[in-house]
This record gives sequence, structure tokens and C-alpha cells, in this order.
Amino acid sequence: MSLSKPLTNKDYSAFFEQAIDTVRAEGRYRVFTDIERKCGAFPNAQHHGADGPRDIVVWCSNDYLCMGQHPKVIDAMTQALNRVGGGAGGTRNISGTTHYHVMLEAELADLHGKQAALLFTSGFVANEAALATLSRVLPGCVILSDEDNHASMIEGIRNGRATKRIFRHNDPEDLRRQLMDLDPALPKVVAFESVYSMDGDIAPIGELVDVAQAFGALTYLDEVHAVGLYGPRGAGVAERDGQMHRIDIIEGTLGKGFGIMGGYIAASSQIVDVVRSYAPGFIFTTSLSPVLIAGALASVQHLKQSPDERVQHQERAATLRNLMRGVGLPVMDGVSHIVPVMVGDPVRCKAVSDALLERFGIYVQPINYPTVPRGTERLRFTPTPHHTDVMMRDLVDALDQVWAEFGLQRHARAA
Ligand code: PLP
Repeated sequence: MSLSKPLTNKDYSAFFEQAIDTVRAEGRYRVFTDIERKCGAFPNAQHHGADGPRDIVVWCSNDYLCMGQHPKVIDAMTQALNRVGGGAGGTRNISGTTHYHVMLEAELADLHGKQAALLFTSGFVANEAALATLSRVLPGCVILSDEDNHASMIEGIRNGRATKRIFRHNDPEDLRRQLMDLDPALPKVVAFESVYSMDGDIAPIGELVDVAQAFGALTYLDEVHAVGLYGPRGAGVAERDGQMHRIDIIEGTLGKGFGIMGGYIAASSQIVDVVRSYAPGFIFTTSLSPVLIAGALASVQHLKQSPDERVQHQERAATLRNLMRGVGLPVMDGVSHIVPVMVGDPVRCKAVSDALLERFGIYVQPINYPTVPRGTERLRFTPTPHHTDVMMRDLVDALDQVWAEFGLQRHARAA
């Protein structure tokens, strides 16, 4: 029999305090910014701070095209709410498969040119569920994962207990070297993203698929930061690059370019059926509200036939990048719609973000570890088609001033 005393509430409290202290000491304690978006006027919003509500401009939303406030989307959601009410009422097995789910899955399968699609409550859950299931059902499966893959993919690979091999970021030659080492008879999945959301760089999809196929590996592509935004119908970078038909499993979100919430995979009917039949993260949870699905459906349908938002989006990102470079701000290289500006220190990154919000009504969230590696803390700007030239000038003037006050590093100013 143990002579130790049982733990008390005080002991538990000390454990929790210690955990939070660690985060604070590293300068990465997260403070949420309480905002209220203004429907029809985004990126204008209100910040609910200590001094009451105040008007701000949001510069860090992943509702990249403002589809969350598009009139067609609002209308579809309102109609669905009035027609069927708020929730789905169950898991997909138990009364939670609504006609809205069926319609959206068909629409997403068509978007990606695949036989089938499957909805999840988020992109995170889609990645976790799909990768864990592939790992479990493919005997001896090895997953080759890009070193910068998102936490949701890492979680899925870990939960599926496949053997994991990490290849260097966006490096087909390193992938080839790793594949050469493996038993040709083992099932393999190469998992990577198209647009990497924190650096804004884009994968060489065709080259990675060439290598994967040469070694008989399946390909799994996360297009979370690309769906709605790239390609003639908004199916993503693989569509833009003419590679979509070569990808075995495409994973996307309904929460960013499409502006609502939810995640999905699109693949062959057989792969979708396997994930549908085995993944706990799909089976044992209440399905998405039909109201959300109706909004996502309207958004996907609109963006499929309207390239205007995509064209404006790319133009706005390029303009902001040029304006920032013009005053020597250290904008990271990238060819996507994401415009990250390096600070390189968690405390200063947070202080700059606070100064922008409090003094200039500019909201951009500091991005710290573990979202990015330590020492690469940054501000991540996501201009939308609705950010005007005036908003951009105000932002760059404010950044120029704050950069000078904090003595932060600059690139050489553009001539
Ligand atoms: N995949 C990537 C690359 C992401 O960045 C994210 C979220 O930011 C996800 C998946 C998860 O998507 P969701 O926000 O729909 O859960």
C-alpha cells in the first residue's frame, strides 16, 4: 500500500498553473481578439475591447474572398434555416444525412472531378480521419509527409500508427530518395499541401506526383488554402496546374475560400467508402448543420462559375506585397495570396500586433510557435477583394511607423 497522500485540488491547480506559466514564459500565451464582423461591410468589423466597441479593419481573416457575407450565401442559409431549422439532428448514420449533405457531396465530387466526396465537421477532422483510416486499412502503410504539413495531417498519421517518413519541404528529390529506401511491395501515401498557409509558398504538385507514381504511392493533397481561390472553377492549385486528375485524394475546407465551415475529401468511390465506414471522426459525431451546408453549397456553386473574385484576390495580394516592399517591410517571398511579414520574436510580434490594433484600428493576429517555428514569428496578412487601396495605404503607413518605433529589421527599400 502506498504511503503517499492522494492529490488535492491544490495539486491539480499547480499542474495547470505550471502549464500556463510555461506558455507565458515563452511569450506565446494566446489572447483572443473579440471581434464582430459587419455583415455586408467586411473587412470592417468592431473590436470589443476594455474601452467598449471600436471600428477596426480585419487583415487576417481566412474568409479569403468574403464569401461568408456574399448575398447568395446569406440568402441560401436564410432559406435553409426557415425550411429545415438549425441542426442536422444526429450523426450521418443516425438521421444526420440531410438532402443538403447529399447535394454538397455531389457538387464537391464534380468540382474535383472525382467519383465521390465526403463531408466532415472541419478540415482538421477531414485530415485526421482520412489519413488515420488510410494508415489503418493499408497493411504496413508508410506515409511520406512533407516536413511543413499541417497539425491535422500530423495528427492523422500519428493516430493511424502508420510508419511515417518526413521529406524535405516541397522537395521531390528528397521524396525520391526516401521512396527508394522502401520495400516496393509496401502501400505508401505521399501527403502534402498545395498552398502552405504560413509561408504562402506553393508545392510543385506535378513533380511530387511524378515521383510518387514512379514508386507506386497514392497521393494525398491538402488544398485547404486553395479551394475556391485557384483554378478555372476554384478547385485549387492542382486544377490550375492541370494535375487534379492525377491526385488520388484531395482534401479541402469549406471554412476559408468558401467562407462557411466544414471539411471534405474527394476521391474514388472506394476510398470514400472506406473512410466513411472506418473513421471514428466521421462516424461518431453530429453532422454539419444543413444551414452551413446550404451556405457552402451556394458558395461552391457561385465560385465554380465566377472567376472574378479569384482575379481580384490575386491583384489585391500583389498590390499589398508591392506597397509593403516599397517601404522595406520584410515581406516573405511567396507566390500566393498570403502575405507574411517576418518579425522573428514572439514578444515583439505580439507588441506590434497590439500597437496596430490599439492605435490604428488594424487587426492582424501575431503568429507564434507552435503554428510556426520559434524565431520565425510573423504577422500574416490576408488581403481580400474587399480591401481597398485606402485601407492598404493606411495599413502600410501604420506598419512603417510601428516598425520605426520598435526598431524592427527592414529589407532594402525598393527604388
Ligand atoms: N489543413 C491546413 C493546411 C490548414 O491550415 C487548416 C486550418 O487552418 C486545416 C487543414 C484545417 O481546416 P479547418 O479550419 O477547416 O479545420
